[in-house]
Amino acid sequence: MSRPSPLNADLHCHSIVSDGTLAPAELAERAHAQGVDLWALTDHDELSGLTEAGLAAHALGMRFVPGVEISVSFASQTVHIVALGVEPDNTELLQGLQHIRSGRDQRARDMAHDLERHLGLPDVYAGALRYAGNPALLSRTHFARYLVEQGVCRQTHEVFTRFLTPGKPGYVDHAWARMEEALGWIAAAKGVAVIAHPGRYRFSATEEWALLEQFKSLGGQAIEVVTGSHTNSQYRKYANLALEFGFYASRGSDFHSPGESVCDLGRLPPLPADLAPVWDLLH
Ligand code: AMP
Ligand code: MN
Ligand code: MN
Ligand code: MN
Repeated sequence: MSRPSPLNADLHCHSIVSDGTLAPAELAERAHAQGVDLWALTDHDELSGLTEAGLAAHALGMRFVPGVEISVSFASQTVHIVALGVEPDNTELLQGLQHIRSGRDQRARDMAHDLERHLGLPDVYAGALRYAGNPALLSRTHFARYLVEQGVCRQTHEVFTRFLTPGKPGYVDHAWARMEEALGWIAAAKGVAVIAHPGRYRFSATEEWALLEQFKSLGGQAIEVVTGSHTNSQYRKYANLALEFGFYASRGSDFHSPGESVCDLGRLPPLPADLAPVWDLLH
């Protein structure tokens, strides 16, 4: 007898409300077409796509989890915390996210000035803004799309190797939420906190351990193990860390755009069988 196929959960992706290119309802349709059974929309620092996403998922008969990916500063780096199963009308969460978003515009103007200086391009701020579906959420991805349009790089991922990252032109240091603030908002909104793509950060082993410990001590419950950002060896590494710390495990593509994202919605290996899936905490 064949074993039942595992749930196809995709608990991390982005719409035009942050730095994706599809509308929330278009993402729902794409997720459903790719065979996703349990789907979360997790725009950066923003909840305003959740109503449309939830309605579209419901119409398709696909289980939906309201989510958000929160930008946090930890040990001089940016760490992303995905919150799953949040109450979208929670005032503490809404106000906290509003506060983080409010710093983005000045940051974007500073990034634009630096890129103009290095590249001799005019009007970089206006150019990036044209790519933002939500002007309150101007992100590095929108700058990357503008630099591709201008022929500076061929693909957005190439932009992040030459620009927009620490030490490179267009990078501007920014203070996001503190870990305890973000986890406080998530708890207030009755969500589950998940460390997004832990393999992407440039931490030493000691710093990474400190991140996991602080996150756990503040009530964090899960980490992404299978994500579009991890290699096969990172799946095992973070599976082992999940077991060691007693974290639930999450799975998500981090899909942004058909033209850019290597990993499509739902197109990921299953979670390693020895892990407790984060969806056991979601109802
Ligand atoms: P921001 O929130 O403005 O700092 O933008 C962060 C976003 O930039 C991430 O969510 C990714 O979508 C994108 N990004 C960051 N690093 C890379 C990379 N190396 N390759 C592709 N996209 C990246
Ligand atoms: Mn993004
Ligand atoms: Mn992220
Ligand atoms: Mn993401």
